[in-house]
Amino acid sequence: MDIYLTPLKFYNQLLLQNLVAELSKRFSCKINVIDLKVNIDDFFSIDRQQYYSTQILAEVLNLTDHINGKVVLLTDVDLFVPALTFIFGEAQLNGKHAIVSVCRLHEEFYSGISEEKLLFERTIKETLHELGHNYGLRHCLDWDCVMHSSNGIEEVDIKGNTYCTTCAKVIEGYRW
Ligand SMILES: [Zn+2]
Ligand SMILES: [Zn+2]
Repeated sequence: MDIYLTPLKFYNQLLLQNLVAELSKRFSCKINVIDLKVNIDDFFSIDRQQYYSTQILAEVLNLTDHINGKVVLLTDVDLFVPALTFIFGEAQLNGKHAIVSVCRLHEEFYSGISEEKLLFERTIKETLHELGHNYGLRHCLDWDCVMHSSNGIEEVDIKGNTYCTTCAKVIEGYRW
């Protein structure tokens, strides 16, 4: 079962390339990039100035029946679910679909200073995290594990950039 990265209002080509290269080292399956024709404007909340992530996932669900694998949407837009101020991403537990927003992974968002290496590290962590949920993993208490929950950017930075041995076992063909 391959992994399909799907840019959706996502414009950082270099980050996408680096992500494909890194995931290809770690997973034995093929990492593909696909284009899906999805209009997410309907899921933009004018009140919150953010996109409702669960609705985006539901929309994409209808468009990916022909794909046999994990579909990870990547976006620059800021995401929310009603109970939370924002989310870095969302995934179906033991499912096929996930979404990762890099909006709040940019250091510019906090300090105004651009840090490409840090952006990449944060993006790989959050992508592995949401993919982990797709593979059936729940949150892990080990801070060295990428499946630790992160409610803020400090927690993204503190946690490890790979799965702990227990979590890694769940993902077939993971090699790190
Ligand atoms: Zn999570
Ligand atoms: Zn773990």
